[in-house]
Amino acid sequence: MSKGSLDKVSLGFFPTPIEKLTNFSNKLGGPQISIKRDDLTGLALGGNKTRKLEYILADALNQGADTIVTAGATQSNHCRQTAAAAAKLQLACHLVLGGEEPTNVNGNLLLDKIYGCQIHWAGQHRKGEDIEGIVERLKSAGKNPYVVPYGGSNEIGAFAFAEAMKELQLQTTDQEPYTHIVFASSSGGTQAGLILGNKITDANCQIVGINIDKDEINQCALDEQILRLVKNTAKYIGIDGHFTEKDVILNSNYVGAGYGVVGELESEAITMLARQESILLDPVYTGRAMGGLIHMVRSGEINANDNVLFWHTGGTPALFAYANELSL
Ligand SMILES: *Cc1c(COP(=O)(O)O)cnc(C)c1O
Repeated sequence: MSKGSLDKVSLGFFPTPIEKLTNFSNKLGGPQISIKRDDLTGLALGGNKTRKLEYILADALNQGADTIVTAGATQSNHCRQTAAAAAKLQLACHLVLGGEEPTNVNGNLLLDKIYGCQIHWAGQHRKGEDIEGIVERLKSAGKNPYVVPYGGSNEIGAFAFAEAMKELQLQTTDQEPYTHIVFASSSGGTQAGLILGNKITDANCQIVGINIDKDEINQCALDEQILRLVKNTAKYIGIDGHFTEKDVILNSNYVGAGYGVVGELESEAITMLARQESILLDPVYTGRAMGGLIHMVRSGEINANDNVLFWHTGGTPALFAYANELSL
């Protein structure tokens, strides 16, 4: 392993494609908007966690793990992709999911079950509060468990998104640079990595996270966590760089009624992108982030001279689980 690199296992198809959203941009009457299709990473119907898991599970294999443990909400995309990655690497997988076992198994949860992982229902604890006890039990049973952090957002997961900025740079050498990259931010690893990669590649673009969850992780504001993760990731891979609060642009105007509560903002974004471009968004993350982008264009916060990249982070399997909440 050389400076600035980490071991990796291949779990998806990269680079993910970039498309210009011509109909959608015209309809909005704003700037040119393009989309980076991380919903097409291939692993278990795709998503941004594939990038993180390629490096995190390489670390798990290096440590001789035989069992992967992670946590999330009932409809966690991170858990679904972790379950799929574990299956591919022939590791056992335990998921600690918030809520109670629903009577109707659908969306991501259906896929978790198809991938054959063991599910522990954690009630109010959707951010991994119960992991420690499960890890202890696995160890007592002679297993070697490896915990993938909430959302895959540690230094290794963030590094994967710094690498994603290098991928983007190679795809866009002969075109106008993007002024903004807009995406859904939740556990912060994606944003931390993009901020770091923005600096490494000198892309000089605004990295705009749309906060989709008003609950804080461990009582610490998300923007502070992101800044800390940027700094720690730079240190972890041994690169220099000075980062301040100014580097963390986190827009919390669109959290609405909270995590996973679908309203008009999400429904409009989902139907508009589907009907103009035939691309599907999800109700919890990308629908909210695109709803935010639509609003920023309409309000003039992002204007016609800008050149915007929307980073599609996946999540589409959750559409089916939210069928009754969408206004169509
Ligand atoms: C996890 C996730 C995000 C947020 O990424 P973080 O690195 O956790 O901030 C965004 N969109 C989708 C679909 C996700 O599953």
